Amino acid sequence: MTTVAFLGLGAIGNPMARQIVQEQIPLRVWNRTGAKAADFAAQHGATHAQTPRDAATGADVIITCLATSADVEALLDGPSGLEFGLSEGAIFMDCTSGDPAVSRRIAARLAPRNVSFLDAPVSGGVAGAEIGTLTVMVGGDPAVLERARPVIEAFGEKIVHCGPIGAGHALKAINQAMLAIHIWSLGEGLTALARAGVKPAVALDVINSSSGKSNTSQNLFPQRVLTRAFPRTFRLALLDKDVGIAARAMREQKVPSPMIQLAAELMSMAHRELGEEADHVEAVKVIERMAGEVID
Ligand code: NDP
Repeated sequence: MTTVAFLGLGAIGNPMARQIVQEQIPLRVWNRTGAKAADFAAQHGATHAQTPRDAATGADVIITCLATSADVEALLDGPSGLEFGLSEGAIFMDCTSGDPAVSRRIAARLAPRNVSFLDAPVSGGVAGAEIGTLTVMVGGDPAVLERARPVIEAFGEKIVHCGPIGAGHALKAINQAMLAIHIWSLGEGLTALARAGVKPAVALDVINSSSGKSNTSQNLFPQRVLTRAFPRTFRLALLDKDVGIAARAMREQKVPSPMIQLAAELMSMAHRELGEEADHVEAVKVIERMAGEVID
């Protein structure tokens, strides 16, 4: 029986880990704020590991879902760090929306210990994680993906091999840049239309049966902006991080990318204005403040 370790029980990590327990897969959990792991273990029948090293010791598949790649890399270090716990033949799978360059560095560090690395970021949000229907974009050796697939299937519905190590993280960053562009451009558009006398609900109704539609116009704005509910499911700070990864990678690859560079600047400005806890969709509040209009 495969034993899994899951490190990082945040907004999305927690429901992903729950899906693994529901598949009757033996699970150890670790979280920086230990109380969250203790509560999870007590509620769901997992083992609470006291250190990253303890979580990894003897586990076949070790999953991280932290805020950034830098957090994941740092978790490997030190006597109680992950690296010393990893067994030969284990699979280390990072579900963080991470940085491809850091993933390649982690993979190279673990290879001499005969530990395989997969980058496996997810999309589908907390709602998708709650019902195990995430899309999982995987970078790394396809044979390693096949070994990990039964575990990934616990929380993933669409599991796609994207390319070599770092490919999953690269694809995720571009997806996130597109999300940011959709949120910002729809926010600007609806603000201008409101000033021209077009109600946002009417505008969305037309856009959603026209070529400008997106998940942002079909779901995010109707459910979160027009209702003014702005639920906090995915922090703007994390979207800022994601678009920053995309923008940096494109500069490094010397790909002309004026739109994605601008999106990164806008997300960084909105993050600074709204703080660490704001949801990503709340970025439209910055547009509303600048314009003196409310989208409702
Ligand atoms: P949260 O901010 O809710 O949780 C972050 C997790 O990372 C927590 O467990 C936190 O521990 C841990 N963490 C942060 N910094 C460190 C550190 N330095 N060392 C150890 N642990 C650390 O984030 P999410 O769960 O929302 O996101 C996790 C990842 O998944 C991110 O990369 C995000 O971009 C991505 N993602 C999120 C989605 C969402 O809808 N929320 C959707 C798709 C991807 P602690 O509890 O102690 O703070």
